[in-house]
Amino acid sequence: MKAQQFVIIGLGRFGASLALELMAMGYEVLGIDHNEERVEEMTDKLTHAVMADATDEGVMRSLGVRNLDCGIVAIGDNMERSILTAILLKELGVKMVVAKAISILHGRALEKLGVDRVIFPERDMGVRVAHQLVTPHLLDYIELSKEYKIVELTVPSCMDGKSLAEINTRAKYGCSIIALNRGGGVIVAPTSHDHVNEGDIMVVIGSNESIDQFEEEAV
Ligand code: ATP
Ligand code: ATP
Ligand code: CA
Repeated sequence: MKAQQFVIIGLGRFGASLALELMAMGYEVLGIDHNEERVEEMTDKLTHAVMADATDEGVMRSLGVRNLDCGIVAIGDNMERSILTAILLKELGVKMVVAKAISILHGRALEKLGVDRVIFPERDMGVRVAHQLVTPHLLDYIELSKEYKIVELTVPSCMDGKSLAEINTRAKYGCSIIALNRGGGVIVAPTSHDHVNEGDIMVVIGSNESIDQFEEEAV
């Protein structure tokens, strides 16, 4: 079952941005922070924003947190509070608990406590930005495994107007274009007859090697 109702603990930059995005996507979000100003700032932007100490079991029970599908611990800097809050969410029976970690050890501790998903926003963003800086046309990528990935690239001017047969990606490099996105219209599973225009977005799947070679030589 997909999560519909979220509780976000810690409305700092990370928690607030996550909360606002979930709201924009149409989900219900309860935001909790023990800092009054942070709560006030979010009151009219979230379903509910409550000033409370998330390590206080009684308060968390009275807020009905256990009925929500997904809890996100967005407290980073204070490891002890992050860990206590994560334990509490698990104990209250929140189905899916996600927590932000600031170090590998913090992350390992959260995993040991049974946190379902540990995220490292600063580390992951650093990795992402590094990839984007060295590959100017790279918009995004997903690591499928150690060997395979999916990347989103903007079509460079040198490919403008060419068909997939002309670009010949699969035969030449061994990676496949699985979708094209131009001005909102998406072509899923394009064939050799489909054309690309400069600025279109192409989604490419393949081995790291094949995609890196494609990016270096063709994009
Ligand atoms: P960010 O890195 O996301 O910008 P930050 O560095 O300002 O956040 P953190 O210490 O990571 O602050 O904590 C994020 C938020 O969590 C803060 O707004 C803080 O008030 C809140 N917070 C910390 N401990 C608790 C707690 N026990 N209960 C509720 N809120 C808490
Ligand atoms: P393939 O089995 O690789 O699709 P094919 O002999 O069936 O090749 P076509 O489907 O006509 O030939 O495509 C010709 C060439 O166009 C392919 O060899 C391939 O390099 C390229 N091509 C076609 N579609 C794609 C795609 N979606 N992604 C990457 N390259 C493609
Ligand atoms: Ca921080």
